[in-house]
Amino acid sequence: MRAKGTVKSKYGILADLERCVGCFACEVACKQENRTARGTPWIRVHTVGPELVNGELRMEYLPIILDKCTFCQSRDMNPSCVAHCPTKALRVFNATSILDALRSDRRYHVCTIKG
Ligand code: SF4
Ligand code: SF4
Repeated sequence: MRAKGTVKSKYGILADLERCVGCFACEVACKQENRTARGTPWIRVHTVGPELVNGELRMEYLPIILDKCTFCQSRDMNPSCVAHCPTKALRVFNATSILDALRSDRRYHVCTIKG
């Protein structure tokens, strides 16, 4: 049985795929904040494509947060990757707003869920 309050206390980082431009600032910010070892990033931006969409070549970028992510706990819900994303593609959501975002028309990717 699920413990009372568990779902409400969850929070996470979602990426708005229409805003991500593949600049990799989130990868750099995480690496600097957490001094991660070379070659073992805690967030990685994957490149998808190019694909032909309506006669035009299109690239997509997909930020993925890996298991070691600590949510930058010392930054008080302002994780470095989110703070340094220039397009605001990455954002922190609480449980309610995660559900609202996923029900919306925008294309969100759930990077990580904590709590
Ligand atoms: S999520 Fe933000 S910081 Fe990361 S690659 Fe996309 S636009 Fe750049
Ligand atoms: S929230 Fe996770 S992925 Fe983002 S900067 Fe902090 S440790 Fe890295």
